[in-house]
Amino acid sequence: MKKVIAIDGPSGAGKSTISKAVAKKLGFYYLDTGSLYRAIAYYFLKNFNSVKELSSINEEELKKELVRIHIKYENGSVYLFSENVSELIRDPEVGALTSQLSARRSVREFLLPIQREFAEKYNTVAEGRDMTTVVFPDAWKKFYIDASPEVRAKRRYEQLLGLGKKITFDDALRDVIERDKRDFTRNEAPLVRTHDAFYIDTSRLSIRAVIDLILKKVAEDG
Ligand code: C5P
Repeated sequence: MKKVIAIDGPSGAGKSTISKAVAKKLGFYYLDTGSLYRAIAYYFLKNFNSVKELSSINEEELKKELVRIHIKYENGSVYLFSENVSELIRDPEVGALTSQLSARRSVREFLLPIQREFAEKYNTVAEGRDMTTVVFPDAWKKFYIDASPEVRAKRRYEQLLGLGKKITFDDALRDVIERDKRDFTRNEAPLVRTHDAFYIDTSRLSIRAVIDLILKKVAEDG
C-alpha cells in the first residue's frame, strides 16, 4: 500500500472539496468512495422496477446482481460499463438509495478490493465513511471531518441548487438527518469517529482553513 490519507465524516461536511484540494496540493490521487456506492445505486435504480422491490432482495440475489457490474474509478470519475456516470450519480434519488444499499454487506464486500487496489497503485487521499476503520485501518494519516446537521444541510442545499436540482432547505435537512441515521447505525461498517483520527469541526471554518489545517497536520507529523 502507498501512502493513504484517510478521511471520514458525515454527508455534507465538505469532505470532497477538502480531500480534492489536499490531494492536489500534495500530488496524491483522490479517491471518492461515495461515488462507487452511488454508481452501484444508480445501476440498481436503472435495472429494478422499484426501490421497494430492491429492499426485499436478499443477499444471494444481490451478490448475483453485483457480479454483473463493471465499475471503474479513474481520474476522479466513476465509470459503469465504460459510461462516465459521475454527474448522473449526484441525483438526490440516487443519494437516498445509496445509503440503503451501502448498508448491505455484499455491496461493501464488492467494493472493498476496488478501493484497496487503488491505494496499491497511488498515494491516495481517500474519503468516505469507513476509510479510517475498515478500508484503510493502517492509513498513514487519519482525519474525521464534521459539521452540524444544519450547516451540512445548508451546504447540500446550495450545492444542489447550483447543479440546477429542485430542492428546498427542509428537504436537504431531512435528507441529511435520514442519511446520518442510516450511516451511523448500520451494522456493516458504520460511521464512527475513532480516537486515532484527527477531528475537525468545519461548522465555523472556511474550506480554505480546513485544508490548511490538514496540510499543516500532515507536514507536522511527517
Ligand atoms: O459521500 P457521499 O455522500 O457521496 O456518499 C453517499 C453514501 O454512500 C453515503 O450516505 C453512505 O451511505 C455511502 N458511503 C458508505 N461508505 C463510504 C462512502 C459512502 O457507506 N466509504
